[in-house]
Amino acid sequence: MKAIVKTKKAPGVEVRDVNVPEVTDTDMLVKVKAASVCGSDVHVYEWTPSYEWMPLPVILGHEFSGEVVSVGAKVKTVAVGDRITAMPGMACSRCDYCQVGRPDLCRKRISLGLGGDGAFAEYIRLSAATTTFKLPETLSYEAASLTEPLSVVLRAVDLATLRVGQTAGVLGPGPIGLLAMQLVKLSGVSLLMVAGAAPDTKRLALATELGADVTVDVTKEDPVKKALALTRRGFDVVLEASGSPKSVPQALQMVKPGGKVILIGIHPAPGEIPTTDVVRQSKSIIGAYGYDADIWNRAIMLLNTKRVKVDSMISHRLPLTDANHGFEMLVKKEATKVIFIP
Ligand SMILES: [Zn+2]
Ligand SMILES: [Zn+2]
Repeated sequence: MKAIVKTKKAPGVEVRDVNVPEVTDTDMLVKVKAASVCGSDVHVYEWTPSYEWMPLPVILGHEFSGEVVSVGAKVKTVAVGDRITAMPGMACSRCDYCQVGRPDLCRKRISLGLGGDGAFAEYIRLSAATTTFKLPETLSYEAASLTEPLSVVLRAVDLATLRVGQTAGVLGPGPIGLLAMQLVKLSGVSLLMVAGAAPDTKRLALATELGADVTVDVTKEDPVKKALALTRRGFDVVLEASGSPKSVPQALQMVKPGGKVILIGIHPAPGEIPTTDVVRQSKSIIGAYGYDADIWNRAIMLLNTKRVKVDSMISHRLPLTDANHGFEMLVKKEATKVIFIP
């Protein structure tokens, strides 16, 4: 089968012919129907710092949906023919974090598409321990492949504990930012600003289409000044989804005293924190990562009812053989969300 493989600790990926994974009694085989490219896949493609630990070669891809085509005798959770999506992380269920109900912090977690073979392939093998979700008949494979990133964002917005009428800013109009702003909007904010840089022009237009009240091109306008002009004291909540270290101090200046900055972006270098301001103004900085099954079920509902709209975010549908083209378009920000259809 064809697969997109990270082979070297250097920029790039290779499309390779590899064997279809063999399934044992405790595995299932899933025919991948749609696999979406995550910002982290682009980081791995570009080989930015913080992925050195990856065991190579490895098939990339962790946001996916597909059809179960083979089931080991000991797998009771799915049946052949099921349309599913699945959590790409496998927790050990034994460590101290797993035992207190925080599998997202598991010490022995294996992440498919990073630490083990992922979904940019015709087939993916999942172990019986994988948490799978049966898709509603009305939910397309394409939309369902965005359940994982939407779940990441749902956790972040849960942590923001927004109340109706509060104000919020979202930094970075990439797929994560565009999902975050939709959830923020659904939370009933009275004002929502989305900020991005010049190459994001198309994405900022999409943010407006999806309900942003104000968009800011940070290469033309100071987002901090804009935030303060709009709100006087700053936003109640700012979600950082740009992954740009520069935006961390900006987010902290945009948030009002007592407000929260939620960090979702993965940063290639540390961001500076104005410590004394954070202390004196009682601002919170919260890191959001991972999810649980309840979050995934809510994400599937939001996608199925189209309360969260992803169709306009999916800019390109490509075969696996167009891997390099797909990644390059994302690096240059010509694409918003690229989906591989194996
Ligand atoms: Zn992802
Ligand atoms: Zn564990």
